[in-house]
Amino acid sequence: MATNHKLSKTTFMYGCQCPKRLYLHKFRDDLRNPEDEFQQSVFNAGIFVGDLARKLFDGGVDATPPDSFSYQKAIEQTQKFIEAGETIIYEAAFQFEGVMCALDILVKRGEQWYGYEVKSGLSVKEQHVKDAALQYYIITNSGLPMADISITHLNKDYVRQGEIDVAQLFLHESILKGVLAEQDFVANKIKELKGVLELSDAPLIDIGRHCYDPYACDFTEHCWAHIPSKNSVFELRKGAGFKLYAEGFKHLDEIPADYELPTVPALQLEFYRSGGERLEAEPIKEYISTFPYPMFFLDFETFMPGIPEFEGTRPYQQLPFQFSLHVKRSPEAELEHYEFLGDGINDPREELKDQLIKLLEDSGSIVCYQVAFEKTRMRELAEAFPDSKQALTSIQERMVDLMYPFQKRWYYHQAFNGGYSIKVVLPTLVPELSYTSLNIREGGTASLTYSQLRYQEPEVIAQQRSDLLAYCKLDTLAMVRILEKLNSMVESALKAGGALNEK
Ligand code: SF4
Repeated sequence: MATNHKLSKTTFMYGCQCPKRLYLHKFRDDLRNPEDEFQQSVFNAGIFVGDLARKLFDGGVDATPPDSFSYQKAIEQTQKFIEAGETIIYEAAFQFEGVMCALDILVKRGEQWYGYEVKSGLSVKEQHVKDAALQYYIITNSGLPMADISITHLNKDYVRQGEIDVAQLFLHESILKGVLAEQDFVANKIKELKGVLELSDAPLIDIGRHCYDPYACDFTEHCWAHIPSKNSVFELRKGAGFKLYAEGFKHLDEIPADYELPTVPALQLEFYRSGGERLEAEPIKEYISTFPYPMFFLDFETFMPGIPEFEGTRPYQQLPFQFSLHVKRSPEAELEHYEFLGDGINDPREELKDQLIKLLEDSGSIVCYQVAFEKTRMRELAEAFPDSKQALTSIQERMVDLMYPFQKRWYYHQAFNGGYSIKVVLPTLVPELSYTSLNIREGGTASLTYSQLRYQEPEVIAQQRSDLLAYCKLDTLAMVRILEKLNSMVESALKAGGALNEK
């Protein structure tokens, strides 16, 4: 019987990212961050893709252990399958030098063995090669020569026509060359990481970019506890914080007055120190005067299923499922509100598009925040529904971007911290409107909520639909109020001489 392993593929990869992560994972579960619902959903999506990929190699036998404590059984089961002449084994498990790994799909053709590791993304990443290099090392050293090893990933060019065609949905990419080049690295790393597991305490490794690259570490709350929760150097944009931290600075107050920074973090720091704001009234007035009435304030929410759910869609295509629309027909007119939310089951795009075309009428400005996103969705809708192409193209041409004055820094406030997203701008310009009281507060959660709506109980569905509607509605109401505030600040500044530079 195989003896218990010290390292697995997962813990080996943790150790490659940061030996301290490996140590904490093994011995200090109490220091782990609270579970991240979004990360869990990415993990669940990966399992679904893996199950589908098995259809590429139908009729295999499964060595998956009954639970996560029984990997030794999976290793023994795999050996039995090989000895019994099985030619397709799912979750084939091996162990060598106290390191175990499982390979998604192991296939025998003639006398040769081929490995396929399934990934739910659209391409091969550097970390996939390292991960497969460990599998190749363990499998070949435990006595099974391999002719090739590939990453099986989703095909970005696949377009669903009818039922899912798994042969077209996936691509196999051989990474044998890269895997062979990493064999010495793997052998040395295994020795190093086994040494880490013998330590009496976690290795002394400081925070750095490795805390988020290639994966977000789940011990950041512990390791980053010494960083000030407000006004730390890591609030500076463009990665300036890592350089400053390496030079011994943690708080913005510690940065020397003559320290040279790139433009955006320098502006952030300048306004942090002065506590002020800046407004250039003329360019803002000139820009927003190009927004004719009626004004339609529009925002979409989208979701991106890895496995295309609807006819004519590709893996991870952004599919709009919801919009909120506030309409202001004149400066004095009452604000009108319209909204749409798909049913969570059927393709929402056609109805969403029809309602939008009707509601957006033929003239007036369509105000978005970060308009490139909405324009791209419109282009995609036009491709999907050629009969509506003319109407959707004319909608695109009427779109204007409320983010532009903030992106150009015609208005900048210390509290923006170098950013200009609506979530950054709103609390400063319109503090009475806030996302904090909502159950859904950002687009990632909205997308996740919608994609799982169909699996919920009716009362949960009703609550989550109401949460989604409230979130999207606030996005467009925020735009209305930000524009009003911008207008009033510009008018005041123009009366006072054209610019505000309060410090
Ligand atoms: S948070 Fe950073 S330093 Fe701490 S264990 Fe994770 S990767 Fe290592």
